[in-house]
Amino acid sequence: MTLHDHYQTLGVAPTATADEIRQAYRRLAMRWHPDRNPDDPQAAEERFKRLQHAFAVLKDAGRRMAYDAERAAPRGNSSHGTGNGAGSGGNGGANGGAGGRSAHGPRPAREAWPHGGPRRSAQGKAGVDYLCETSIALETAVLGGMASTRVRMTVDCLHCDARGIRMMACKPCGGTGQVRRGLFNAYGACERCAGRGVEPAACDACGGTGKVRVDKALRVQIKPGVIDGTVLRARGMGGTGIDGGPNGNLLCKVRVRKDRVFGVDGLDLTRELKIDFVLACLGGRVPVVRFRKTVMAEIPAMTRSGTVIRVRGMGLHDRAKQKTGDLLLTVAIDLPSRLRTLTEPQQTLLRELGRGAGE
Ligand SMILES: [Zn+2]
Ligand SMILES: [Zn+2]
Repeated sequence: MTLHDHYQTLGVAPTATADEIRQAYRRLAMRWHPDRNPDDPQAAEERFKRLQHAFAVLKDAGRRMAYDAERAAPRGNSSHGTGNGAGSGGNGGANGGAGGRSAHGPRPAREAWPHGGPRRSAQGKAGVDYLCETSIALETAVLGGMASTRVRMTVDCLHCDARGIRMMACKPCGGTGQVRRGLFNAYGACERCAGRGVEPAACDACGGTGKVRVDKALRVQIKPGVIDGTVLRARGMGGTGIDGGPNGNLLCKVRVRKDRVFGVDGLDLTRELKIDFVLACLGGRVPVVRFRKTVMAEIPAMTRSGTVIRVRGMGLHDRAKQKTGDLLLTVAIDLPSRLRTLTEPQQTLLRELGRGAGE
C-alpha cells in the first residue's frame, strides 16, 4: 500500500496552522470535486477522497500529532522486539516508559495505516492517546537532556472505585438517619435512607462518571538533535486499553524556545562571530563556543564583515533523516579589545594601510 503524505496532498508545509490546512482543503476540494471534473471523474474522485482523508487526519490535533510522529520516524523496524518501550523508533520518549508493554508488543501509531489494516486489535479497543507539549531550551535540543511537561489524563475515580456512585450522607436527615415529623414533632427513622443516614448517590468527586481528569507531571527524555515540532511518542503510556485492547500512547510535542545567541535555520545553527580587524585581515583560527563545546572556526585572510563562515557538521542532527546541519557564523568586525588608543607609529601604519598597501 502506498501512503500519500497528507501535507503534500493538501499542498501545505508540515508547520501549517489549522487555518491554513482548512483553507487549503477548501480550495482543493472545490478544484477536485468529481462533479466539477467531467472529463476524468475517476481520477478526480480518487484525488478528492485522498484530500478528504488528509484533511480528516490533519484537522484533528490528536490524529495530527500521531501522524507527525509516524511521519518523522516511520516504523520500518517493526520486527525488533519491544526495545525500550518508550521512544524506540521515535526520537525519545517519556521517562518511565522503559520496559514497554511486552504483552502487546510495539504498536503502530494510530495513523500509520489510515485505512484500517493491521492496526486494529482483534479484541478490545485501544486506550486513548494522551497529548502534551513541552518547551525546551535550544541547548537541550542540541545536547539532549530532560524536560518536564504536564499531561491531562483520565483515571479511575478513587472515591467511588470508578463506579460513579457511592454512599453519601442522606440529605433529608443530614446523615443522622432521624427526622422530626408528625404531630408531636418527634424523631423517627428517615424514610429516604431507612435510618441508615447514608444513601447511594452520584459520586461528587467524579460527578457520577467514575472517571476524573488529573494533571500529571512527567519528565521527558530529550535525545540530542530534537528539532522544533518533533512529536515524541511513548508507546503504551496513554489511556488503559478497553476490554483487553492495547494501551494508548503518550504523544508529546516538543517546542524549542528561541535562543539569545543562536538562531536556527533548518538544521543549521547560526550566530554572530565578532572578530577584530587584525584577524580579519590576516586570517587565522578562532575558538567559537557552541553550547558546552568549543569548536574552531577558520577565518580566511581579508574576511569582510557579513561574510558567513561555515563550520561543517556542527548544526542540528536529524536522527530520522540521518542528516546534520552546519554552524554558520556571520562575521562582524570589531576593534581589538586590548586597543584603547593608538600610538603615533600605529596611526601612521594604519594611514598607510588605508591608502592601500603596496602603492
Ligand atoms: Zn467517583
Ligand atoms: Zn436519611
